[in-house]
Amino acid sequence: MRIGMGYDVHRLVSGRPLILGGITVPFDKGLLGHSDADVLVHSACDALLGAAGMGDIGQHFPDTDPQYKDIYSMELLKRSIQRVRESGLELCNMDATLFAQAPKIAPYRDAMRQAIAAAMQVSVDRINIKATTTEGLGQVGAGEGMAAMCVVLMQCQTA
Ligand code: MG
Repeated sequence: MRIGMGYDVHRLVSGRPLILGGITVPFDKGLLGHSDADVLVHSACDALLGAAGMGDIGQHFPDTDPQYKDIYSMELLKRSIQRVRESGLELCNMDATLFAQAPKIAPYRDAMRQAIAAAMQVSVDRINIKATTTEGLGQVGAGEGMAAMCVVLMQCQTA
């Protein structure tokens, strides 16, 4: 068994769509980044790559590379799990927490789970997504950005 963790933060700005867990969430601001800045999915990519000892999302998909400009991060997740699978690991489960003061995430949580499970080609019961505010504390609490943490447990596929 192998474990991996991921953590990511993105700034909230006007004039960008808010994409979380692959779902476009109606809100007056969106996350800023080279890709679609899907903070939740980025933390999942880092957890997967970490479990495999394969570095991080920035090494695999550099934000200086024009081919990743505005890319749908679910595509990065698909490529991440593909590379991790090639190393002989399969996902047992993923558990992620999104830190956001607003909007309410609960109405979108099941759609996010389903989208992530589909991208990773696993059953939805292996994917858990939680969301919390920071009780108004800090930069996330002030609505300046969002953060996400993710852990994955991976099983070694032995012949
Ligand atoms: Mg990121």
